[in-house]
Amino acid sequence: MKNSRNDNQEETIISPVLPTYARTDVAIEYGKGVYAYDQNDKEYLDFGCGIGVNNLGFCHPELVKTLTEQASKVWHTSNVYRIPGQERLAERLAENTFADTMFFTNSGAEAVECAMKMARRYHNENENPERYRIITFEGCFHGRTLATIAASGKEKLVGGFGPMMDAFDYVSFYRDMSKVEQAITHETAAIMIEPVMGEGGIKPVSSDNMRILRDLCDKHDILLIFDEVQCGMGRTEKLFAYQHSNISPDILCAAKGIGCGFPMGACLATEKVGRCMTKGSHGSTYGGNPMAMAIGNKVLDIMLADGFFDHVEQMSYDLRKGLMTLRNKYPDIIDLVRGVGLMLGLKLKLEPPTFVAKALAHGLLVVGAADNVVRLLPPLVIEKKHMDEALEKLELVCAEIEKELPDPQSEEDE
Ligand SMILES: *Cc1c(COP(=O)(O)O)cnc(C)c1O
Repeated sequence: MKNSRNDNQEETIISPVLPTYARTDVAIEYGKGVYAYDQNDKEYLDFGCGIGVNNLGFCHPELVKTLTEQASKVWHTSNVYRIPGQERLAERLAENTFADTMFFTNSGAEAVECAMKMARRYHNENENPERYRIITFEGCFHGRTLATIAASGKEKLVGGFGPMMDAFDYVSFYRDMSKVEQAITHETAAIMIEPVMGEGGIKPVSSDNMRILRDLCDKHDILLIFDEVQCGMGRTEKLFAYQHSNISPDILCAAKGIGCGFPMGACLATEKVGRCMTKGSHGSTYGGNPMAMAIGNKVLDIMLADGFFDHVEQMSYDLRKGLMTLRNKYPDIIDLVRGVGLMLGLKLKLEPPTFVAKALAHGLLVVGAADNVVRLLPPLVIEKKHMDEALEKLELVCAEIEKELPDPQSEEDE
């Protein structure tokens, strides 16, 4: 029956998987540490981490052990019962952050949804139901649900999915914080920002601007939401990126690195905000399930161990130094190097896909981003030798691209 229309020559054949991704024709069969291996056993040095997710590399022995042990105990109960792993993880995350309370999700977008619901609920409980709008920033990314694409407003995300929820006010990115204050109205509930913008092209918010945002929120009694789905969980050599500044948010979204590849997320909040989420106000079937919680706790064990972040800091310093040298050698290809910790970006003078494809051919996984940026998001457990290997491969890529650049001399001659 499915083929009943195949007499129509014009019919396009769709793949059984929705064609929403422009996929590279590589399938990773297995991975070990910082290396991935494809269907032909070709080896790749992974400086992408599945877009900032596998922060402890592939098949970390302790994570594999934890997951297999938990798998033979219990996978799923329901949030109608107590889940001890959830209580433990929440306590520990609270101890190490600004948060007093949190909700566990399965993904980043769900954590952001939870944050936005909380912001509205908070103002409702405080007799300000007119405060429902959220200020967001040009180029931001918060996920792919209807509300989170509306939060971004980027045409690439919202095109064809309208009408969009009219609940966001967009401010251009960053330098001029007076624009933010101008955007605040009596309907504003919150400001939401990525402390280091990921998809938008690795753009860190300075400590000064973090301070300004905090002060604005306090002055106008609105909430500050940090989306740390990409920049959180050790990526910037602190557990969360906001910890580089001397302020904290009211709500924070985590995901990606929090499960190091096991799907999970969390929405952290202060008591002031969290107490408005009363019984029955929110829920998730899988959020905070025992498998995810076992992994989440183990990831924290590893990251909170002595010296873990010192190592990340050292690697970051060395990698940046290497990248700056590369930039100085190839100024026609690399415009600048930016980022924090092991969340680094090369802003190119060309479009990233060529660079990413050449890196792949040389066995190096890197990820493109907006603003002509190639992201380097290596596992936090890389060692000096991996970094040297990556820098060698990046140099080969630059040398190849340079050869293909039009020769300015010969053009002038023509
Ligand atoms: C990836 C990402 C999300 C969305 O996470 P999903 O797990 O894909 O839903 C949200 N915010 C930021 C900053 C991200 O990088």
